[in-house]
Amino acid sequence: MLILMRLETNREDIERVKNKIISLNCTPHEIPGKSQLAIGITGPTDLLKKEDFLLLKAVEDVVRVTKKYKLVSRMMKNEDTIIDIDGEKIGGDELTIIAGPCSVEGRGELFDIAGQLKEMGLTFLRGGAYKPRSSPYAFQGMKEKGLDILQEVRKEFGLKIVTEVLNPRTLEAIVEVADVLQIGARNMQNFTLLEEAGATGKPILLKRGMAATVEDLLLSAEYIASTGNMNIILCERGIRTFETSTRNTLDLNSVPVIKKHSHLPIIVDPSHGVGIWDKVPAMAMASVAAGADGLMIEVHQNPEEAFSDGYQSLTPKQFGELLVKLKQLAPIVDKKLLLDKKK
Ligand code: PEP
Ligand code: MN
Repeated sequence: MLILMRLETNREDIERVKNKIISLNCTPHEIPGKSQLAIGITGPTDLLKKEDFLLLKAVEDVVRVTKKYKLVSRMMKNEDTIIDIDGEKIGGDELTIIAGPCSVEGRGELFDIAGQLKEMGLTFLRGGAYKPRSSPYAFQGMKEKGLDILQEVRKEFGLKIVTEVLNPRTLEAIVEVADVLQIGARNMQNFTLLEEAGATGKPILLKRGMAATVEDLLLSAEYIASTGNMNIILCERGIRTFETSTRNTLDLNSVPVIKKHSHLPIIVDPSHGVGIWDKVPAMAMASVAAGADGLMIEVHQNPEEAFSDGYQSLTPKQFGELLVKLKQLAPIVDKKLLLDKKK
């Protein structure tokens, strides 16, 4: 349920409505808009009646949100959410590029790639210290040592760090290093992790599960939002289908579908989406054309030697060539790719 407040609402009016919601065993969520404040209600809202609120001072209207997900839906909030990470915006008219290796592999390696990406004007670096691998015998990431390296690189280059959290046990340590917590495809429905990560208040990059529908993804985002953390970036990374010529099938339908139903920013990871490096640029361009707010791309200085996902990684040179094309494409979909603003 959503309560639309009158334009001239003051704090006292808002608190009165919130207290009423709490007295009915539900939870209020303030949703500021450009022109009007709204108060979302979650909990057992089926038991609420519109009349419970319509008579309260400063209440303009009461709307039932018919979708299963509430806080992340456009019905609750029509304006696009723009996430501000110390001045770096995700959503809105900027195209955000997150790039870096699949895994942190060593100090020298990460300093090298981070330096090259910084030189290209990037502001976000990806790299997993904890890796969710299909085989228990595959490289599992550098773990705590990887986090230390990420921290050093963050300080040295001022890049924003995007790194994956696999379970609540390592959350505290990862929060110290990460500017954005990545929750991977395999953990999209790990609801305990979603709630605990959400409660840190850190921005969260939530990747679509490989067998998850768009509605499942939005319901997982709702778990995070229900902790009071609306700094959620959705990520399409391909789903499993009968098609075997690529690692996954990049479901770009999800981009306009999500844009219609949710106010959250959505980015695309074409690297995992196709799994083969030479198809990554085409699908990166297609993602932007479909309306994505950004891209996450695996880049490695020597893909043949990469500890994980080398086959889908671009070299810095290939990535640089892609950036030139993305910059040209962005204005066609009313976006801008700012690559040199800090230089
Ligand atoms: C990754 O980003 O390296 C990763 C493991 O992605 P996903 O969770 O989408 O498989
Ligand atoms: Mn990877």
